[in-house]
Amino acid sequence: MITLKRVQTFVYRYPLKIPIKTSFGTMNNRPMVLINITDSEGTEGWGEIWCNFPNVGAEHRANLIDSIFAPILVSRSYENASLIFSELTKATKVLAIQTGEYGPLAQCIAGIDIAIHDLIAKKKVLPIWKMLGGTNDNVLAYASGINPNQAKEMGQKATSLGFNSLKLKIGFANDLDLSNLTILREIIGDDGHLMADVNQGWSFKDAVATIPLLKRFNLDWLEEPILANLPSEDWKKLSNISSIPLAAGENMMGSNEFKKAIDQRILSVIQPDLAKWGGFSRCLPIAKKIISSGLRYCPHYLGGGIGLLASAHALAAAGGDGILEIDINENPLRTLLIGQMLDTNNGIATLGHNPGLGLHIELEKIEKYKVRY
Ligand SMILES: [Mg+2]
Repeated sequence: MITLKRVQTFVYRYPLKIPIKTSFGTMNNRPMVLINITDSEGTEGWGEIWCNFPNVGAEHRANLIDSIFAPILVSRSYENASLIFSELTKATKVLAIQTGEYGPLAQCIAGIDIAIHDLIAKKKVLPIWKMLGGTNDNVLAYASGINPNQAKEMGQKATSLGFNSLKLKIGFANDLDLSNLTILREIIGDDGHLMADVNQGWSFKDAVATIPLLKRFNLDWLEEPILANLPSEDWKKLSNISSIPLAAGENMMGSNEFKKAIDQRILSVIQPDLAKWGGFSRCLPIAKKIISSGLRYCPHYLGGGIGLLASAHALAAAGGDGILEIDINENPLRTLLIGQMLDTNNGIATLGHNPGLGLHIELEKIEKYKVRY
C-alpha cells in the first residue's frame, strides 16, 4: 500500500536552433512536462507527460495535473498502479466528454502512471523492467527524428553514435523523400535497417502512388502513411499493395483500439506511446499481446529523458523483437537528464539494475530551461 503525499509538476522549454519538421508541423522548441510524486515515506517517483503538440500545450497539461489530478491523489492510499490508472480515468470520464480533451487528460494519467511505477519500483529496490517481468536489460534501439533538411548529417551522426537503424521523416515532396532515403541507405549500408515515417502526411491516393516507389529501399517499416483514423478498409488496401510492413500506434488510445489493431493484422508493427496513453499499466499488457500475436511491439517516443527511459523499460519488460525509438535531435532535456544511460553499442542500449527508472534526477542541470507557468 502506498500513501501519496505530494504531486508536483515542472515545465521546460529548450529553444531549437534547427526546428524539427514533421509533415504536419514544425517544433521551434522542445517542451517537457515532468511530474514528481512523493509518498508518505519520502520515496519519489518521476514521470513525463507527452506534450509535443500543439506546441503551446505543455503548460496546459501541467495545469491539468495541478488542478485536477493532484487533488485526487494527495493523501490517498492505493494498492497498486493499475488501480490508480482506473480511478483517475473514471474520475475524469465526464470531464473528458464535456471538454473534448480526451488526449491531454489521458496524457496526464499516463505520466502519473510512469511516476507511480518509478516510485513503487524504488520501494521494491528493483528496476522497472525487472519488476514488470523482464529478463534482459538490453534493448535494440534506432535513431529517430531524422529531418528532411539534414538527412545526411543526421544519418552520419547516428552511425557515429553506434546506431545501425535509422528512421527518416518523409511525406514532404517525393523528390526530397526519395533522395534522402537513397542517402540514408548508403550511409547505413545493406545490413543496416531503414524505416520511414510519413506522420499521416499522405492522402490515400498519394499513398497508393508513392508506396511502390519505396520498394527499392528495403524498409523495415512504413509508419502512418495515411491518417491514423481512416477506415480500416483503406489501411487494409494499402497493406495489400505494400511489400513494406506498415506501422502505427502513436495515435491510438484505449485498450480496445489496440486490441482491434492487433486482431485485424493490417499493421505488422504496433507503436504505443506510454507517455501519451496508458503508461506502463495499460501499455505493457498490450505490448505482450502484440508480441504473443506474432507482431512487433516498437514503442513510440519523442520527448524528454524520463519518458525515453520509461519507454526503454517497457520494451525490456515486454521482450520480443521490437526496437526502441531514440530521438537523435539535439535536446538537452533528454541528454542532460539521462546522460550516457542509453548510449548505444552496436545499436543496443542497456538499462542496468538501479531501482525504478534507474536515474538520479538532477534538475539543476536543466534549470535554465525551466518555464514559470
Ligand atoms: Mg511516428
